[in-house]
Amino acid sequence: MAIVLFGSPGSGKGTQAKLLSQCLGIPHVSTGDMLRERIRAGADLGPAAARMHSGELVRDELVNRLVEERLSQPDAASGFILDGYPRTVAQGEHLNEWLDARCVAEVVVHLKVDYNSIIARLTGRRACPRCGTLYNLSTKPPKVDELCDLDGEKLIIREDDQEEVIRRRLEAYEQQTRPVLDFYRDAGTRLVEVDASSDPPQKVFERICLAINGHDRAQDCR
Ligand code: ADP
Repeated sequence: MAIVLFGSPGSGKGTQAKLLSQCLGIPHVSTGDMLRERIRAGADLGPAAARMHSGELVRDELVNRLVEERLSQPDAASGFILDGYPRTVAQGEHLNEWLDARCVAEVVVHLKVDYNSIIARLTGRRACPRCGTLYNLSTKPPKVDELCDLDGEKLIIREDDQEEVIRRRLEAYEQQTRPVLDFYRDAGTRLVEVDASSDPPQKVFERICLAINGHDRAQDCR
């Protein structure tokens, strides 16, 4: 089964994708992570790095290719969780063709979060520059102010979490990504809406499991 986690930046897609991946034993495929990994490894992705730094989306052809390559790996044969893809209607069309050609069923999980919570989450996000652990000053603060719990390194604000960049990421979501919901509605794709505004990640996870399975699959994973 293909699970598409859909939601604005800061809606908790990454956190929920990890929980689902552990529970279901299928890979978590994040286009943001794949792009960052390639840039870190020195791949020449043309203007993609600059676009990411400024909060704009990268070209559809590039992400479509990365996703296709990833989904063709053997570990994705029995299912996968998409996080951050599709983000444009063109990507949604491309994905649907790929899935239809392989008769893979798809469920889209829309994580709904109110605007104020999104702003608080995005502006409070901190990362450890050494080990990559993510924190949030409002929802998951480090034990010692601004220092990583694991290695004591001073936490940083990711470049695309700077205020101006956050504004552009939210704009890109409203203009290019939100219309993907209507695309899915029109296509008759199975779409479930989950309230992800204020409850802790585990609670949201239980809600997702209920919505996609009709029972509390999270219980099986505890
Ligand atoms: P967030 O969901 O918090 O914005 P991501 O890690 O998913 O963060 O994405 C970071 C950046 O990577 C995006 O702002 C965009 O530039 C690029 N990106 C990720 N996924 C896609 C995609 N499917 N299409 C176009 N650009 C993408």
